[in-house]
Amino acid sequence: MERTLAILKPDCTSRGLMGKVIDRIEKAGFRIVGMKNVRLTAVTAGEFYAVHRERPFYGELVEFMSSAKAVPIVLEKDNAVADFRKLIGATDPAEADAGTIRKDFAESKQNNMVHGSDSPENAKIEIGFFFSDRELVENS
Ligand code: UDP
Ligand code: MG
Repeated sequence: MERTLAILKPDCTSRGLMGKVIDRIEKAGFRIVGMKNVRLTAVTAGEFYAVHRERPFYGELVEFMSSAKAVPIVLEKDNAVADFRKLIGATDPAEADAGTIRKDFAESKQNNMVHGSDSPENAKIEIGFFFSDRELVENS
């Protein structure tokens, strides 16, 4: 079993699309072991995306991620990291495969609905950014 971190981004929560996205996640075989509401700030969103600090889109990304509530979710499944990236599709919805969450719902490369960890190592770090161990509950 592997874990990954998903985030329902502010465009997803503010457009009322949380249920549709969670439905796809569960139907794809992921188990939800942690989930919460957060309102990121410029500081915490900036810290989460620190790896992109030097990129031209960083300022707007931080502003977007702190513009409304976000919902981090810890998901568990065999091959969770790669399988979740497949489920959400390419960063730019215009380039995402048919049937992916970003292809079907995202409005732009920035407002692309969901985050997904890009490696098992980063998944551990990102899960720890939002959750303590006692908040993660496996179901059977
Ligand atoms: N992003 C953006 N413009 C870009 C690339 C990325 O606004 O040219 C945003 C987008 O919301 C993306 C996030 O920054 O999801 C993180 O970028 P990354 O390259 O890590 O994409 P992801 O891993 O989310 O597919
Ligand atoms: Mg990324």
